Amino acid sequence: MQRVDFQGIGMTSQRTRDRLVERLKAQGIENLSVLEVIRSTPRHLFVDEALAHRAYEDTALPVGFNQTISQPYVVALMTEVLVNSGSMGRVLEVGSGCGYQTTVLAQLAEKVYSVERIKGLLDKARQRIKQLKLNNVHFNYGDGTLGWEEHGPYDAIIVTAAPENIPEALLNQLAEGGRMVIPVGDRNGQDLVLVSRRDNSFEKQVIESVQFVPFISGSLR
Ligand code: SAH
Repeated sequence: MQRVDFQGIGMTSQRTRDRLVERLKAQGIENLSVLEVIRSTPRHLFVDEALAHRAYEDTALPVGFNQTISQPYVVALMTEVLVNSGSMGRVLEVGSGCGYQTTVLAQLAEKVYSVERIKGLLDKARQRIKQLKLNNVHFNYGDGTLGWEEHGPYDAIIVTAAPENIPEALLNQLAEGGRMVIPVGDRNGQDLVLVSRRDNSFEKQVIESVQFVPFISGSLR
């Protein structure tokens, strides 16, 4: 868990960010630590300069390589579901993308392990985490279908791209009492699912419908 003071990073106006948090509250996000972290995280650093003026809108934005930075509401929802349901000791993220969700998690978890299959995105995410002086995050360039066995089992797993089926390795790397939040489905529809591991059985609960980029297994780029 790391508290950081991001002042001086060239934050855009406090009012714009306060408005985003008000909007998240209106949509049902209640956890105060999650809301505070979103309020203070400089999302504009995670998008191209040309899009920075839209960084505090509650919308997904393109970040290159055919990928997007997730909508703040979805980041808040997934984080809240994990924070409210148990330990945030060791957290695995699959799909670092631009590193925004990673940055939010790093401020609420003890350690974050994040896997990404696109090298160009991973390098940028790594750079930003360094710039923000977060030192509890470890990145891996690889296929998240395999999770990241070396550092498991994980108290929490978050997947930020949608597979049609939950990869077996991710279930196996969930600690007893661990939870995973993952969008499951295809282009026609996806559900955000919370999987909880208890006594070697996996309980599943659908949270709501979502729309994520597809989870891609195999070859890296
Ligand atoms: N978490 C990001 C959004 C990520 S977009 C945010 O904070 O905004 C989804 C990411 O998942 C993309 O970068 C994509 O390359 C990655 N991804 C898709 N399939 C993957 C896989 N099998 N292993 C690792 N990363 C994957």
